[in-house]
Amino acid sequence: MSSIELKNIVKKYGDGFPAVNDVSLDIADGEFMILVGPSGCGKSTLLRMVVGLEDITSGDLLINGKRVNDLAPRDRNLSMVFQNYALYPHLTVAENIAFPLRLAKGQHSEQEIQAKVKQAADMLELNEHLERKPANLSGGQRQRVAMGRAIVRDADAFLFDEPLSNLDAKLRGQMRTEIARMQRRLGVTTIYVTHDQTEAMTLGDRVAVLKRGVLQQCASPRELYDQPVNLFVAGFIGSPPMNFLPARVEGNSLKLPFATVPLEGALAEKVKGKDLVIVGLRPEHIKDGSLGGEAGDVRFTANVDQTEWLGNEQYAYIPFEADPAVQDKLEELDRDLDGEGMRTQMIVNLDSRSRVLEGDDAELYFSPSQMHVFDPETGECLT
Ligand code: ATP
Repeated sequence: MSSIELKNIVKKYGDGFPAVNDVSLDIADGEFMILVGPSGCGKSTLLRMVVGLEDITSGDLLINGKRVNDLAPRDRNLSMVFQNYALYPHLTVAENIAFPLRLAKGQHSEQEIQAKVKQAADMLELNEHLERKPANLSGGQRQRVAMGRAIVRDADAFLFDEPLSNLDAKLRGQMRTEIARMQRRLGVTTIYVTHDQTEAMTLGDRVAVLKRGVLQQCASPRELYDQPVNLFVAGFIGSPPMNFLPARVEGNSLKLPFATVPLEGALAEKVKGKDLVIVGLRPEHIKDGSLGGEAGDVRFTANVDQTEWLGNEQYAYIPFEADPAVQDKLEELDRDLDGEGMRTQMIVNLDSRSRVLEGDDAELYFSPSQMHVFDPETGECLT
């Protein structure tokens, strides 16, 4: 059993703003936990505190129920894979993989070391390269050696700090599937830091989203996507990102830039007492009206400024007027998300059958049940 618990963990460098601010997380035995968020949100700091490379300012870190705040890194029995691999250039692949076993002097027989290196090399398809030096390997192979070195020990958990960020896109995809397979096969508790949301969504049993050191939401990838708790999580997860539209409550309806939505049932409850909300609509939930729709869908016409055709899908860009009452909030959100400054245009992800062209007054629709409604003051989702 290897559980990791973080209780109210705080990290301050000097007397500045906390890099990690009161984060609590329970990572279960065998769980694959992702830490994700924009640059500087504190994800590496959090991981480095778990492994013991960084002191914890306050809070408790428990491994298997035991407080380990003051335990040296080597006594925590965790295996870390770094972004830059940190291989020994003068050692061969086999020697690099065997290194942690030899470091634990006298604990493993030579025969045992050879067997473990072979097992790791088999799993990572490194058998043909065992006698090479790191300089003679490709980036992907080096990454595999770094993983081999991590899995060769019977560590309680694997910790990965952006392990794929130095690889090109194709190799990243391949290594991602390998890491997923390896983790499932070994069933070892894993914490994995990334800023890549594809890695976050495909690898994680659960994903913890951080913003400026504060944990925003920790949930399964599907729950994060379907039920983001606030504007930040909603804007961070999903590509192209969720559209945020200012919406005014007027009598029994909600006025969006293009459409009017009747206020009834659960939606009426959500906006009760508000004059203004921000409506989130994912690009794929807005559809081409000439291709379908059901009773209860909201239909509207909008002028398409630009389209992008990607073969299996196409994007349509539709500008709308900013609403001064929510613009500050949306600009702040853009900054938090390392923004793209797209808060006055709506992106629609049309399916490949759609024939909408640039300049068209396109007929579109969405289902009100797909709308996310956010409080414009706090950014929280009004569920
Ligand atoms: P990135 O994706 O860019 O690596 P991150 O989410 O991993 O970012 P951290 O590296 O944990 O973020 O940094 C969190 C905050 O702490 C940042 O504001 C950073 O500038 C600050 N920080 C990190 N390390 C130190 C340090 N050794 N001394 C002072 N401040 C630091």
